[in-house]
Amino acid sequence: MNEQKSFIKVLMYIILVAFLILFVALWIGFSENITLIKFIMLFFGAIFTFIIISILSIIILSKKLFKKNNLSSLESKILYYSISLYYPLLIFTANITKIDKNKIRLIYTNINNLLIKSKKIKIKKEELLVLLPHCLQDSKCQFKITNNINNCRNCGKCDIEKIVNLKNKYGINIVVATGGTLARKWIVDMKPKAIVAVACERDLSSGISDIKGLPVLGVLNDRPNGPCINTRVSIDRLEEAIKYFIE
Ligand code: SF4
Repeated sequence: MNEQKSFIKVLMYIILVAFLILFVALWIGFSENITLIKFIMLFFGAIFTFIIISILSIIILSKKLFKKNNLSSLESKILYYSISLYYPLLIFTANITKIDKNKIRLIYTNINNLLIKSKKIKIKKEELLVLLPHCLQDSKCQFKITNNINNCRNCGKCDIEKIVNLKNKYGINIVVATGGTLARKWIVDMKPKAIVAVACERDLSSGISDIKGLPVLGVLNDRPNGPCINTRVSIDRLEEAIKYFIE
């Protein structure tokens, strides 16, 4: 099952449950019994009507975004806030329905990327921060690049060499983070106006949802050796994300 189908399936599960609760709430709410319970049930009915409408708006707007890639500013805002609001619920639903969470995380990152690209944000090269995961470095490399990526000796055993070339070509800040805490520290210290982040589905989606108020373009890494070891990244896709902000 591809990512979009999994994403829609998870949303449909949520709508189904919301419809059931709405039905029960309205049934009790419009019955002829105690007034307080009726009031509470009608209140629940209103909440679940809102949930159903906003989930339907995610389905319609995300389909439009993937198909035509041209949402109006209002549609972009509705999609952005709705998906940010429901993202934890989507992951929870994927978990209990045994749908691959990484597919949901990837769709979330793709929607974020398309929304960011539709804004046409341009910044100075020194205002961009590229965040890399430590697992891109060859695991046997003896040079410490977490403090300074320029400590790479360009041996070519991992993609860090090509990334250092990108750093020199565009004159941008590129740092390596060993985890979320260090990534947040780099952001606080360097105060970027935009971020390009390379990571796996889980770290990209959690990073994007954590970093509020800053545009983040996510670039998915490749894991030919399994997770968290000797990972790779498409230099073309990374360069394309960098160029989006600074050219
Ligand atoms: S390219 Fe750089 S970081 Fe990668 S193994 Fe060689 S020296 Fe180490």
